[in-house]
Amino acid sequence: MTDFKKIISHAKEYGFVFPSSEIYDGLSAVYDYAQNGVALKKNIRDYWWKSMVQLHSNIVGIDAAIFMHPTTWKASGHVDAFNDPLIDNKDSKKRYRADVLVEDYCAKIETKIEKEVAKATKRFSESFDKEQFVATNPRVVGYQEKINTILKRLGQSLEKEDLADVKNLIEELGIACPESGSRNWTDVKQFNLMFGTKLGASADSAMDLYLRPETAQGIFVNFLNVQKTGRMKIPFGIAQTGKAFRNEIVARQFIFRMREFEQMEMQFFIPPGTQKEWYEQWKQTRLNWHLSLGMGEENYRFHDHEKLAHYADAAADIEFKFPFGFKELEGIHSRTDFDLSSHEEFSRKKLQYFDPERNENYVPYVVETSVGLDRMFLAVFSWALREETLEDGSSRTLLKLPAVLAPTKVAVLPLVKKDGLPELANEIVDNLKWEHATAYDEKDAVGRRYRRQDALGTPFCITVDHQSLEDKTVTLRDRDSMQQERVAIADLPKLLDEKFNIKHWLQKI
Ligand code: ATP
Repeated sequence: MTDFKKIISHAKEYGFVFPSSEIYDGLSAVYDYAQNGVALKKNIRDYWWKSMVQLHSNIVGIDAAIFMHPTTWKASGHVDAFNDPLIDNKDSKKRYRADVLVEDYCAKIETKIEKEVAKATKRFSESFDKEQFVATNPRVVGYQEKINTILKRLGQSLEKEDLADVKNLIEELGIACPESGSRNWTDVKQFNLMFGTKLGASADSAMDLYLRPETAQGIFVNFLNVQKTGRMKIPFGIAQTGKAFRNEIVARQFIFRMREFEQMEMQFFIPPGTQKEWYEQWKQTRLNWHLSLGMGEENYRFHDHEKLAHYADAAADIEFKFPFGFKELEGIHSRTDFDLSSHEEFSRKKLQYFDPERNENYVPYVVETSVGLDRMFLAVFSWALREETLEDGSSRTLLKLPAVLAPTKVAVLPLVKKDGLPELANEIVDNLKWEHATAYDEKDAVGRRYRRQDALGTPFCITVDHQSLEDKTVTLRDRDSMQQERVAIADLPKLLDEKFNIKHWLQKI
């Protein structure tokens, strides 16, 4: 997998992602999507939206405002509980998430386990049974027990809000500031991740608001409006994509953890008691959606949560193998009736559904699927970027984006800038652009133009040459195989439809 720095610089150099307000040296953990990035992002969003809303007759979409009545966030628990524990190093003045410091310490022990496994794999070669080794080797068992003890204590201390013990744990483990090596720590404090702002002109009448930290609450407060006006019958879902804001304590790793980001969420409303089946079903459906993009089954895994958020009775992450290891890409949460019941209580409005089959009123249960659009972008982009050595020993930079998501689908290239070739090439662009994002490029030698389109992730190049003028054929070059075939201009629409029609991709789910 490509080095992370290379991914960030490629994203900038080829017009995918820029640091925000770069002329002022940027803003920490805030990014802008550039001309190609915005197209890739939109294609990911469409791929999600179509699979959710267009393909499910019982899922509809909404677009709620970012500002919401402030009581929303009291009811949802975010005012009281949307905190991360932070700790400062007194010498380096660097700020960390206390839980992440401890988790990183455990990850280092995990690396030791991996080293032992690697050594043993070499020693025992084919007869090596990894599972048995991990379960019985005294050194590995010792490491694993240590990790389990540490994480259990961390979990319990956080659960009890015993922040003094989280600090004790950091001190007992001798964890040092990764920047300075200093062990001179402040106490651990809770830090609320919501951004506050004000609504209204005069200071005394202004109302304190928050920028939403998740899109889900816009769905919950509209549950009854949608159910009634859409005459929806349970089970049904409401989907939404949109911006969310979190004042993350440590925001590194490019667009993996941002302070302003976009979520794609779907809340599925179900009868109480059926949450287990629906939870399992949505876990599978969502994994299949990811797999349909063809980025390798081995790059995904489920991680079931042990420590559950205040609203959940079951939760799992779909983790993806990012350049820095397996990390959360999407969350699937069985949220019970927590949100709707809480909004009932705070708003004093009934948020219930009359179920004609059960002949009773109830507050529906909810299973949520929530994926970060920017994280999905990073998953696709980092997986796709690779340096390839070709048969002749030269190398090329390839952005092997799933064709359905590529920002530009085809580039039309006249072999030379004269003899009527540009005119014919432009005619082809004008014909194809109704269906597909099509580019025209006549600058530089054709080999260099191919390389440029490879680095942009364009799946096909169409080259117009002198023969094209005579027999109305062109060459169609495949980005991944670099194979070229001669095809009739008249056949292009059909050929391209086979490659790009979303139907051929989503049918795999
Ligand atoms: P994490 O543990 O990484 O902080 P989370 O568990 O708080 O994430 P959720 O609240 O479940 O995340 O949000 C759902 C999804 O939104 C995540 O799976 C992730 O893809 C995305 N997401 C959350 N926080 C961020 C962020 N700061 N930047 C980009 N994407 C994010």
